[in-house]
Order: sequence, then structure tokens, then C-alpha cells
Amino acid sequence: MQLRYAAAYLLVTMLVLLLLNTYPLDFARDLVFRTKEASVMGKAEMVASAMKGLDRLTSEGVEQVVQLLNDMSISRIIVTDDAGMSLYDTAYSDNTKGHYTIYPEIVSALEGNDVFYIRSSPTEIESRAALPVMYRRMAIGCVYVVEKDAEQAALLAGISRNMRNISQLILLSVLVVCIVVVFLFSRRMSRILDAIRVVREGEYSYQMAADSNDEFGILAQEFNALTNRIQTTETMRRQFVSDASHELKTPLAAIALMTDSVLQNDMDKQTILEFVGDIGTETERLSRMTAKLLQLSRLEEVRSAPMEPVLLSGTVEKVLRILWPLAEERGIRLVNHMEDHCVILAREDDVYEIVFNLAENGVKYNHDNGTLEILLYREDHSVVLMFNDNGVGIPEEEREHIFERFYRVDKARSREAGGAGIGLSIVHDMVEKYGGTISVSARDGGGTRFTVVFPLYEEGEL
Ligand code: ADP
Repeated sequence: MQLRYAAAYLLVTMLVLLLLNTYPLDFARDLVFRTKEASVMGKAEMVASAMKGLDRLTSEGVEQVVQLLNDMSISRIIVTDDAGMSLYDTAYSDNTKGHYTIYPEIVSALEGNDVFYIRSSPTEIESRAALPVMYRRMAIGCVYVVEKDAEQAALLAGISRNMRNISQLILLSVLVVCIVVVFLFSRRMSRILDAIRVVREGEYSYQMAADSNDEFGILAQEFNALTNRIQTTETMRRQFVSDASHELKTPLAAIALMTDSVLQNDMDKQTILEFVGDIGTETERLSRMTAKLLQLSRLEEVRSAPMEPVLLSGTVEKVLRILWPLAEERGIRLVNHMEDHCVILAREDDVYEIVFNLAENGVKYNHDNGTLEILLYREDHSVVLMFNDNGVGIPEEEREHIFERFYRVDKARSREAGGAGIGLSIVHDMVEKYGGTISVSARDGGGTRFTVVFPLYEEGEL
């Protein structure tokens, strides 16, 4: 890419230089030629008009006239008669006198035309003018003037030479600049490519040096932000896989141990039944855990189901109906105070999951004969859903961790209650997905309060 830019840059420079080397020079030459034409023709005319009035041209007559007009800084003057015979020639006055001078300019002038011709070389500009000498509308002879100018030719050649030298210098500088720019560009580009390759090989912590403020610097900064992000995701993924395997290992080890005991020991039927019962409980816990893990992984997918207005009081009632037997078993009272018209925009299944997890925790981590109170109300443009229990409570230093995956305050108690420490992290992610917030606080006199705030769905919002 950079080579293409450099080539285009060079091409444009070359075109500009070419233009500079032709147009102004042509213009200057044209100007000089015109001046020459005016001056040489003027001189020829002067000679021709000095001979007007003569009815016949003779060598002596012409010589007299031309000498009168001396110092015209002309290289050569030839005057011929009407037949082209030389009567006077400043260059070879004797030699050509009486000889025919059949120059094309003279022939044309004798036919009655004014002729001008100019030729230039680096050393000389030669201008020739031929005019007829008229008498009674008849050409009785011709004045032929030649002027050679080395000074102007040298001037033109000098300009041209200077232009060429300057152009070569410019072209050389542009070439050097192009080479340097292409080299720097490729070096920085290959640094970026190398960095991409390193990260592709799995070195996610790789950081590029962002040592400039130009586009490359910005690219390096963006690249570093990207690798940071990948690094965080990767760490989280590893942590999650290791936590998940650890959590699955514990019940699996218990099941293996109990199965071994049943197979190897000579147990009575009652003990065997107890062991098998425990195996069943562990298996149930495993399947609950895998179900939640599945749910967690699905949470990261883009859901295709559309969002819809969900009436929260309806979902809470459904959850309470399901939890009723569990609560009643331990004498726990389920109380609710719910306002109407608390609607949010979400997916019904997710909302059910949020309410169920929080309400189930309120029962699971409650004392026997305790109370779980659920409040639902609107506040400005939000809906507040509150779970108040007077259970075991969560120590202050643990509260900031409980939304982390696999975090359990009291492992023994959680395991006993069939928990795996995933529920609250699912709830947290789901609430955030719908633009809400979740917080936890302690209640006076023991117990825990979970407060979820969702944006209120207002009529016609969809
Ligand atoms: P689990 O499946 O273990 O219940 P959660 O993610 O739902 O996992 O909860 C994480 C931990 O937070 C639980 O193990 C428990 O120690 C604590 N916890 C959650 N809810 C409550 C509550 N209402 N009262 C006391 N402790 C709670």
C-alpha cells in the first residue's frame, strides 16, 4: 500500500516538474522569438524603406544607403535585385556580389512576401527576415537580414539548465523522502503485524509501545485495549472452568465414595438405603448445578426471543406458589405487598429466574419459623422489587462477593441447602441485562434485604 502511495507521489511530482520544465521555457522562448521578429523585421523594413524611391537598385546605390544606416547590430545584410542577384552583402561583399542568392526566403520575398524565419540552438538564435523592395507595386529587389544572437541563446539555455538542475534536485529529494517514509511506515506496520501474530499465538498479555500521537499511536492504544479485554475474558473463562470443575468434583467424589462403601462393605439393608438416599441427594444437586451452569452459559448468548412487557406481580405470585411447600415445611411465612401496574420490558423466563432465585434464597437461608417479605412498588420511572428476610444474614465483608460465581458464604450451609453459589451471579447478570441494578444490605435485627430496581415500562414504549 505504502509503495503505491509513494509511486503516486513520485508520479505527481514528476508531472509537475515536467510541466515546470516545458511551459515556462516555451513561454520564454516564444517571447524572445516575438521580440526578435519585431526587431529583425523592423531592421529589414528600415533598409527596405530607405531604398524606396529608387527605381532601380545598383550596388553603389545600395551601399550608400546601407552605410547611412550603419550600426544596426546585424550579422549580415544582403540586398538583391529583382532577379535575386546579390548587389550588396555585408558578409562577403566582394565574393557574392554579382552572384545569385537563391535562398528560399529571398525567392519568397521577390514574389512580394514579407518573410521571417527563426532558428535557435543552445549557442545561438538565428533570425532571418526577407522583404521585397517595391517600386510602383513591383518588387525590384529584396532586403535580406540575418541576425545571430548568442547572448539570448545563452540566457535561454541557462534558464533551461537551471530548471533542469533544480528539478533533478527536487526529484532526488522527493525520492529520498519517499524511501524514508516507506521504510518507516513498513517498519511500524510490521510491528503491528508482529503484535497481532503474537496475540494470535495465545500471548494475550502482549502490549505494544504506543509512543506517538499519530494514527499508529492510536492503533497501538486500541490494540492494547483489545488485548486487555481478551486477557480479562480469558482469565474469567479459565477461572470459571476451574471453579465449575471443582464444584462438580465434590459431589462426584462423594457419590464415588458412597458407591464404593456400598459395594465393598457388608452393610445392613437400612444403612444401604441411607447411602443410596445420600447418593440420590448428591445426584440431584449435581443436576441442579449443571442446569444452572447451562443457564449461565446461555446468558452469554444473544437471545432471539423478543422482549415483552412483564407484569412483575404476576411472576412473584407464580414463584410464591412454587415455594409455598418448601416454606411451609419449615414454618416460614411468605408475605407480600405489591402495587399494580409494575411492568418492565424483559423476557418472562428471565424475570421468573430472578424472582425465584432471590425468593428461594430468602427461604433457604432463613431460620425455621422465619418470615420472607416481598415488596413491589413504583418509584419515578423505576420499579422496585424488595426481598426482606430475617434469616441468617450475610456478614458485611462477604456482601461485596456474593454476586461472584461459585461464591458461598457458609459452604456447609449452602451445600446442605442444595446451593452451588451460582444463583446470585445469574440474577446479577440478568438484572443488568435489562438495565436494572441489584444491591444487598443487612436488616435491623438480623436478616438480609435484596433490592432490585428495573426501569419502568411505560405504555407505548415498544
Ligand atoms: P447458592 O446456590 O449457594 O444459594 P447463591 O449465588 O444463590 O448460591 O448465593 C450465594 C451465597 O450467598 C449463598 O451460598 C449464601 O451463603 C449467601 N446468600 C444468598 N442469599 C442469602 C440470604 N437471603 N441470606 C443469607 N445468605 C444468603
